[in-house]
Amino acid sequence: MNDKFKRLIFVFLAVLISIFIIIFIVYIMAKPTEQEISYSDFLNKVLAHEVKSVKITSNRIEIMPVNNGIIKYKYITGIMDDPNLVNVLRNNDVDFSAQIVEQDSVFSAFLFWSLLMVLIAVLWFFLFRNVIEKSGGGVMSFGKNASKIFGEKKTGITFKDVAGQEEAKESLVEIVNYLHDPAAYIAIGARLPKGALLVGPPGTGKTLLAKAVAGEANVPFFSISGSDFIEMFVGVGASRVRDLFKKADEKAPCIVFIDEIDAVGKTRGGSLGGNDERDQTLNQLLSEMDGFDSSKGVVILAATNRPETLDPALMRPGRFDRQIIVERPDYAGRLSVLKVHIKNVKVGSDINLEFIARATPGAVGADLANIVNESALRAVRMGRNYIIHEDLEESMEVIIAGKQKKDRILSPYEKKLVAYHEVGHALVAALLKDAAPVHKITIVPRTMGSLGYTLQVDEDEKYLMSKDDILNKIKIFMGGRCSEEAVFNTLTTGATSDIEQATNLARNMVTMYGMSDEFGMVALESMQNKYLDGRTIMNCSEETATKVDDEVKSIINGCYNSSIRLIKDNVKTMDEVAEFLMQKETITGEEFMEIFNKNKELLYDENKNIELLK
Ligand code: ADP
Ligand code: ZN
Repeated sequence: MNDKFKRLIFVFLAVLISIFIIIFIVYIMAKPTEQEISYSDFLNKVLAHEVKSVKITSNRIEIMPVNNGIIKYKYITGIMDDPNLVNVLRNNDVDFSAQIVEQDSVFSAFLFWSLLMVLIAVLWFFLFRNVIEKSGGGVMSFGKNASKIFGEKKTGITFKDVAGQEEAKESLVEIVNYLHDPAAYIAIGARLPKGALLVGPPGTGKTLLAKAVAGEANVPFFSISGSDFIEMFVGVGASRVRDLFKKADEKAPCIVFIDEIDAVGKTRGGSLGGNDERDQTLNQLLSEMDGFDSSKGVVILAATNRPETLDPALMRPGRFDRQIIVERPDYAGRLSVLKVHIKNVKVGSDINLEFIARATPGAVGADLANIVNESALRAVRMGRNYIIHEDLEESMEVIIAGKQKKDRILSPYEKKLVAYHEVGHALVAALLKDAAPVHKITIVPRTMGSLGYTLQVDEDEKYLMSKDDILNKIKIFMGGRCSEEAVFNTLTTGATSDIEQATNLARNMVTMYGMSDEFGMVALESMQNKYLDGRTIMNCSEETATKVDDEVKSIINGCYNSSIRLIKDNVKTMDEVAEFLMQKETITGEEFMEIFNKNKELLYDENKNIELLK
């Protein structure tokens, strides 16, 4: 039953009950209150014409007075053996009758109350059921519980659908073979891992790999997210874990996949006061993993991007004793992910996947899949039924920098400033030896906040960065601000993220890469969570930290000085490119280099002339 329907029933019942209560109140109000009087008083009232009607029941006489207010009242009196009564009543114009069915009113009241009771019971049932479902106990909740577990009989995904990740696949092949033929492994006395932990940044294809294992082994696939175990009520998580393993046991051989296992698997008792529910869930998970018989062919795969937070007990032999690293793809990996996904869409002849793969260092499989999908959407928007390279490039930029924001209109001055800022980056990049070539400069504002950007694409993937590479990068970051200062003699907030990134690089040089003169190869910082934001923690004294700051400052200042010199020496090139940008908003790498090279030759000639004159 879905929630909407349930709510409807609830409202319906509430309305019904309110109606009953209102009717009941009206009934009480309409029902006259009673006052007992003596028989002689009764006769006196009749004689004084104060009585309107009289009703004689088996054991009493009910007297309705003539003047009755809003809240009605009536008199009652006992029955006398008075044969004259009828005559007296008739002579005084009193309407009188005797009651036929004495039980009637009792009966209707009974009916009313029992109906009300039934309704309240039904209402409680509904309310109560919700509570039981949430607490996860009880028989009724089973169906709901099970639905948190997502099951597929056949995933239909094989290793072919997972591009790259060859090492991960290699480790998983053994599990596939085992699921195909457990007997062969048991015969030789081999004990296979009950579980394997897939470790890597989000979007690298961990879920996909787990599904592929199930697909390759042709067994059912069950998955649940670690966060689904944790609910408000203590004990729910543990019961869900029990459920999961029971289900897996029934369907063995199968793959059970627990995503985000760090949600349950955090080191126990770490936080202040602990977390009873989570500890209990984890304990249940551990004992279930110990308890089940792996010869049946149940393999637990779990994924996490925070392996450092996991409880060591999870990694003990007999549990997740195998760790499979699923890294961000390198150039070849990215290219193959693109190839896998491009198969599902129609493409034109001009697409250059190699270029996209080269331009997206750091992107994970999910990003690349997204680029292909965005391209397809763009192609449809453009009224085409196939993808061209421009779609891919534009979608790549959407993923990197956000969507184009056409409605943001910059003032001419700001536009000029942004243009010079971006050209500053590009110019420094072009002037430095060994920096990645400029592919494109644009000053179209993007939804993710940037007002323009310069795209550099390296010819080959770099696995190592030299000190010079890093210094070059910092100088390129400085280029934007330098041109603001050199041309407009002003400083703007446009350089905020440049400054942040440059400072991070400089700091890492000093504290982690061993590239400073002062500290040499001493590690002053360590990486905290490698697969997420890569936050670091300082492990040095305060005096050292101060010195680190000084070093960082001197690196940045040094880079700034060399960038501003480069900019000031090449104002002419900058003017020309900026002019071009302001008119067209985008300049390609080739167009940029054309202007750049032309001016370089001029500069060269001028220098020669000066030399000749000397
Ligand atoms: P994770 O579980 O590591 O966060 P997923 O497995 O959910 O990542 O990946 C999300 C999507 O990204 C997949 O459905 C797939 O379309 C795409 N993807 C990620 N990695 C790959 C890969 N190596 N090959 C092909 N597609 C991938
Ligand atoms: Zn910038």
